[in-house]
Amino acid sequence: MDFTLELKQVTFKYTGIGGSEHSVLDHLNLRFDQQECTAIIGPSGSGKTTLIQHFTGLLKPISGQVLFNGRDIWGKQFSRKDLRRHIGLVFQFPEAQLFEETVFKDIAFAPQKQELPAEQVTGRVKEAMAAVGLEYTVFAERSPFKLSEGEKRRTAIAGVLAMEPALVVFDEPTAGLDADGIHRFSMIVDTLVQKKTAVIFITHNMEFVAQVARRVIVLKKGQVLFDGKPCDLFTNPSLIEQAEVQIPPVVHYLSSGKSPLAGNINAHNGRQKIWRRIEKIARNLNLEASE
Ligand code: ADP
Ligand code: MG
Repeated sequence: MDFTLELKQVTFKYTGIGGSEHSVLDHLNLRFDQQECTAIIGPSGSGKTTLIQHFTGLLKPISGQVLFNGRDIWGKQFSRKDLRRHIGLVFQFPEAQLFEETVFKDIAFAPQKQELPAEQVTGRVKEAMAAVGLEYTVFAERSPFKLSEGEKRRTAIAGVLAMEPALVVFDEPTAGLDADGIHRFSMIVDTLVQKKTAVIFITHNMEFVAQVARRVIVLKKGQVLFDGKPCDLFTNPSLIEQAEVQIPPVVHYLSSGKSPLAGNINAHNGRQKIWRRIEKIARNLNLEASE
């Protein structure tokens, strides 16, 4: 679905003990629209979580504007409740918010509140479960509390996808996941992108950025330090240093023409699986991958 989300000169401050003010977002300008997959990175405390809370009006800027489809989300006529259907936020460790007795009921919660006909609700649940790789017949009637941690997280994500938002924003979705969990999450992102749902995610995992992000925004001290393609970030050492991140080893091998499999084979992972990941990274960064 087509949309635009714009932040214009957005400034936000927290008031500390004794009334001291602490600037978190500093005259920030950003624009997002459809069919992008964007990573937001930056040091801890740089304002990433605060930024995405401005997208749906969970926080209000001290000055500046947030515009959705050109309309000020803090304007008198604007419904922020409706906005939250179009922009789905997935917080860190979203599995903590599961509460229904079955996976079906948990995922159906938001579409049910929209008062959609029952068969449409079921259709949305099925589609959302397919997108996160949970088989409907196996999981729908199970208790979310009896699932594995990875399945719980995917159930929580499905609950947001069932609203069919135009944009889904994830706060550190790969935190605490193992390689398989990260791979599964990358498939969720692929599915969303195929369905023309825009994706924004905050992460510290640079290999994941290299693999799926078409655009990277580096935040530092509440300002945009870089906004561009991942290949332009990973080939700029001074920017990498300022962003306080490291170039993932695979990207390093690829860009120096060495075999990206060097030092990357271990007994637990199939060579083919690793190679597929490397090819995906190479494709995304426009680099040559040869064994
Ligand atoms: P990030 O997600 O990039 O790690 P945050 O947006 O969480 O950064 O935080 C940015 C800054 O705002 C930090 O200095 C943090 O301490 C401060 N901060 C975040 N949340 C609060 C809050 N609820 N009250 C006061 N200060 C906060
Ligand atoms: Mg954060």
